Amino acid sequence: MSNTYDCLVIGCGFAGSVVSRELAERLGKKVLIIEKRNHVGGNMYDLFNKDGILVHKYGPHIFHTNSKRVFDYISRFTQWRNYSHEVLADIHGKLVPIPFNLNSLNMTFSFEKAERLKKKLVSIYGMNTRLTIAQLRGEIDPDLRELADFVYNNVFLYYTQKQWGVTPENIDPSVTARVPILISQDNRYFQDKYQGMPSDGYTVLFEKLLDNPNINLRFNTDASKLVSIKENQVFFEDKPFKGTIIYTGALDEFFDCKFGRLPYRTLDFLFETHDIARYQPKGTVNYTVDQPFTRITEFKHLTGQNVSGKTTIMKEYPKAYTGAENEIPYYAILNEENFQLYKKYEQLTKELSDFHLLGRLAEYKYYNMDSIIERALILADEIICDEKGND
Ligand code: FAD
Ligand code: UDP
Repeated sequence: MSNTYDCLVIGCGFAGSVVSRELAERLGKKVLIIEKRNHVGGNMYDLFNKDGILVHKYGPHIFHTNSKRVFDYISRFTQWRNYSHEVLADIHGKLVPIPFNLNSLNMTFSFEKAERLKKKLVSIYGMNTRLTIAQLRGEIDPDLRELADFVYNNVFLYYTQKQWGVTPENIDPSVTARVPILISQDNRYFQDKYQGMPSDGYTVLFEKLLDNPNINLRFNTDASKLVSIKENQVFFEDKPFKGTIIYTGALDEFFDCKFGRLPYRTLDFLFETHDIARYQPKGTVNYTVDQPFTRITEFKHLTGQNVSGKTTIMKEYPKAYTGAENEIPYYAILNEENFQLYKKYEQLTKELSDFHLLGRLAEYKYYNMDSIIERALILADEIICDEKGND
């Protein structure tokens, strides 16, 4: 039984599921997906809670992309609810749009000062542009410095300390650059061309994505129980495995963390259901100057679900990942030292034949869903191209 598969895929998030579908559908490969959780969907998994409200078990996920290929591909498996995510920052009780934009500016400064700041920003950067907090902090004009200090202190400093355990200067600049300062009145959190929520949720989307007779799923199974490496040969259920292997889990864990653990941040999620129709005005409120949690998301905004008299919210509490059984590595900590450690593990995979690393964990990157889907499509293209070239 064991070696009847052409392809082993470890992990059933977007990375594993998209590549499986492509190999199963386009090459007729018999694929086995090994997943340690008891469900499909990786971190995108959603479910109805006991109050009948659709919630995201591993944190709020909003789909957005500029890639037509990705959007068209995923649209094969779902219809869309038209939704543009909006986020507010709670700054000492005042709720202002995030990314910090011209509307936020108007709400924060006096009319005269806001007008002056707007004029300066538009004359330097132009209307409908974006800049990073690091760029703004580099300005020497006293008004813009005051603005930079305000945004840094009231939007980025404490939130980043909670999320990463260090100040913004001590994380990779690409991380805070995800949330720019917008010189526009666009209150949306993402400016991508395509954005929305799967109409029936992510779990239903994944069930359709995986609905192919060549795809087999084995849940509640840690790959380390079935897959091992001896002398640069991959073994599956103790027999040499000659097919394609796609690994989407944490790379250090695949090698028993033998060079030490790759550092991650993890999150504790606290769900609360309240006997009210609405908890907050927008999908997410970020707590940027107080509270021990970073943000509260109210799912009914995202899903558009019409459940009267009840609503479920989620609070996110970040902390260091220790590798404990019940923890999930969510965020890679991007810096040179960790990159070098990652490279050591990656080197071990170079000797293996037809072995591929794919996904936010396996590549130790900070990828959104659309980037992972795109990478999975590209990897499948490459594997298919190689296979056809060898015919
Ligand atoms: P995952 O979804 O993590 O899937 C990996 C799977 O592999 C998991 O199911 C895991 O159980 C399994 N696995 C790992 N090791 C093993 C093993 N040894 N054996 C068997 N199975 C294993 N992106 C967006 O685009 N929009 C958002 O709004 C958004 N919100 C986010 C919010 C939070 C809190 C977080 C943490 C991330 C968010 N993301 C968002 C990013 C998104 O979660 C990732 O892009 C996506 O999960 C990547 O998919 P993946 O398949 O690489 O990884
Ligand atoms: N960030 C912040 N304040 C905010 C929002 C974001 O300081 O109100 C910083 C913080 O460091 C965070 C990063 O910007 O980790 C990226 O934010 P994003 O919302 O993209 O994080 P994610 O949704 O991936 O957790």
